[in-house]
Amino acid sequence: MSLALNIDHTTAPRPQSAGPADLVGLSRREMAAALEGIGLAGRDAKMRASQLWNWIYVNGVTDFSAMTNIAKGLRAELADAFAIGRPEIVSEQVSVDGTRKWLFRFRDPLHANMPPVEVETVYIPESDRGTLCVSSQVGCTLTCSFCHTGTQKLVRNLTAGEILAQVMMARERLGDFPGGQRPTDGLVPSGETRAITNIVMMGMGEPLYNYENVKKALLIASDGDGLSLSKRRITLSTSGVVPQIEPTGREIGVMLAISLHAVRNDLRDVLVPINKKWPIEELLEACRTYPGVSNARRITFEYVMLKDINDSDADARELVRLLARIPAKINLIPFNPWPGSNYVCSDWDRIEAFADIVNRAGYASPVRTPRGRDIFAACGQLKSETERLKKKDRDAFML
Ligand code: SAH
Ligand code: SF4
Repeated sequence: MSLALNIDHTTAPRPQSAGPADLVGLSRREMAAALEGIGLAGRDAKMRASQLWNWIYVNGVTDFSAMTNIAKGLRAELADAFAIGRPEIVSEQVSVDGTRKWLFRFRDPLHANMPPVEVETVYIPESDRGTLCVSSQVGCTLTCSFCHTGTQKLVRNLTAGEILAQVMMARERLGDFPGGQRPTDGLVPSGETRAITNIVMMGMGEPLYNYENVKKALLIASDGDGLSLSKRRITLSTSGVVPQIEPTGREIGVMLAISLHAVRNDLRDVLVPINKKWPIEELLEACRTYPGVSNARRITFEYVMLKDINDSDADARELVRLLARIPAKINLIPFNPWPGSNYVCSDWDRIEAFADIVNRAGYASPVRTPRGRDIFAACGQLKSETERLKKKDRDAFML
C-alpha cells in the first residue's frame, strides 16, 4: 500500500500575504509601526503588538474577534486593516510511515496580478521528535544534478510571511495550537509534546539565496514569546553559499547543515555546481569558523549516496579526513530517485561499508532513513506543480 490519504482543497483560502496588511511575518517593530499606521499612539501600539504576537504565534488565532483582551471596537478596526493569513492547501498527503506532505498555494504579496505559486512542506514524525521540512524558495536557481527541485524553472523567493505560514499552517493541521485537534490517523505523536519540535530549512530552494527573508522568519520562529522553537532545533541546510555562512551563525544563530556530497572538487563541480564558485576548501574554512560551532553544536554534513559516483571506501576515508578539524556530524542520505534522474542509489551493502568507515572514525548512526518516498516527500524529490504554468504567464512572472 502506498498512499494513505490524499485530501484535495482541504481548506478554503483565507487571505494570506495579501500585501503589507498580513501580520504574519512582520517583526514586532513592524507590527507596532503598522498599528501606529492605523492611529494607535506609540506606547499603545507596542503593547497591542505584544498582545497580537501572543494571539498569532502562541494561540494560532486567525480571527480578530477571538482576541478577548482587546476591546471590541479596536478588534473591528484591526479586522478592517489587517489579515492573519494562512495559505490555501492544494493537497495534503499522508504516507504509510506517517510522513505528511502539503502543497501550499501563495498569492504574490507584492504583485496582485501575478499567478500564485505553490510550495511543498513536509512533516516527519519520529518517536522523540517531529520535524517540519520548510521551503525557502519556489524552485531553486541552483542545478544540483541529483535534485528534482533544481529542475524547476519557475523560481521566486518566498517572503518571511510565506516561510512562517508553512509552519503556522502545519501546526494548525497537526493540532499544535491550544485547543487544536491532533489528526485522527494515529501517526502524529500524541500527548503533551508538540507535534512539531524541530524545523529544517531543507525543503525547496537555497535558503542562503533568500537570506533576509529566511533570517526574519527564523528569528520570529525562535522568538521566546511566540512560536518559541529553540535555535538548537532549527537547522538551515545550504549547498555552500560561503559568504552567507558567517552571517547565518552570527545573526540567526541556528544549526548549520552543509550539502557536501563529494570530497573532490572535480566531482562536486558536477553534483553541486555552486562548488565552482566556492570550492570545498573555502566551504570547509567557513564551517571551521562558523559562529557558535562547538562539539555540542556540530555542523551536519549531508552526503547523498550515489552508486559508483561518490560511494567508494576511498571517498569515505577522504570524507573523514576532510572533516577532522571541524565539530561535525555526518548524514548519509540514500539517493531518492525521481522521474528522469540520471543517478541510482548506492546498494545497501555499499552504504553499510561506507557508514562503517565513518562510524569507526567516531560518527554515530550516520544513515538517514528515507521517509515518505511513497508520497514523493523524501529529500530532493520536492517539486511543485507551479511549473505547469503556461509559458506566457511564466515569462510575465519573471519580469
Ligand atoms: N538547498 C539546500 C536545502 C534543500 S535540499 C541544500 O541544497 O542544502 C536538502 C538536502 O537534500 C540537501 O542535502 C540536498 O542535497 C539533498 N537532496 C537533494 N536531492 C536529493 C535526492 N534526490 N536524494 C537525496 N537527497 C537529495
Ligand atoms: Fe537547490 Fe538544494 Fe536542490 Fe541544489 S540540492 S538544486 S541547492 S534545493
